[in-house]
Amino acid sequence: MSGKVVRPALGAQSFTCPHCGALAHQTWLRPFLMYGKDQTPRMPSPDVVDRIRADRKLENKEDIIKYLNRVLAREVFIESHENSVYLKSELANINISRCYSCGAFALWVADKLIYPEQILKIQPNEDMPHEIKLDFVEAASIVDQSPRGAAALLRLCLQKLTAHLGLKGKNLDDDIGSLVKNGIGWSYPESSRRGASDWQSSSTPWSD
Ligand SMILES: [Zn+2]
Repeated sequence: MSGKVVRPALGAQSFTCPHCGALAHQTWLRPFLMYGKDQTPRMPSPDVVDRIRADRKLENKEDIIKYLNRVLAREVFIESHENSVYLKSELANINISRCYSCGAFALWVADKLIYPEQILKIQPNEDMPHEIKLDFVEAASIVDQSPRGAAALLRLCLQKLTAHLGLKGKNLDDDIGSLVKNGIGWSYPESSRRGASDWQSSSTPWSD
């Protein structure tokens, strides 16, 4: 995220993407409406992914999990319906831009950018597991309003990351100690007096 920053503006051919921070070309799209019939929208519960993973009878689990993770991350994305009918009702004055660099959508009411809420200053590493990204993005989005809340979420991310790396995922200090022993590239403070919050990494799981 370096170089020139161009503020997003309605109709602009390119601007700094509020998702990925790249100065990128934007494609403009228009939303059309389809009656939801008896499908009222609702948020899935956060443990739904675990329940689906545990369901042995279910097929195409990975597709369902991928979809639900995107919904849980409050992402805006395209869900294609093969049997769609011709749509003729447009939701006027709602505009959508799509970043050429990351493919993410931004929503506008008239000339006001309403989604995403802010330009994320801190991006998760591409290789971060999706389920950890959810917590990470949430931490990044609240860091200005609640630094302590963000720190708690980041600690949870680290715990999940260490579990993802095959460690116990229970005691963060122990797990980081094991990572250091295994030469994963962390530089942990020599002196334990400085505490676990002081560690730094030569290859952090995120960058700013
Ligand atoms: Zn982007």
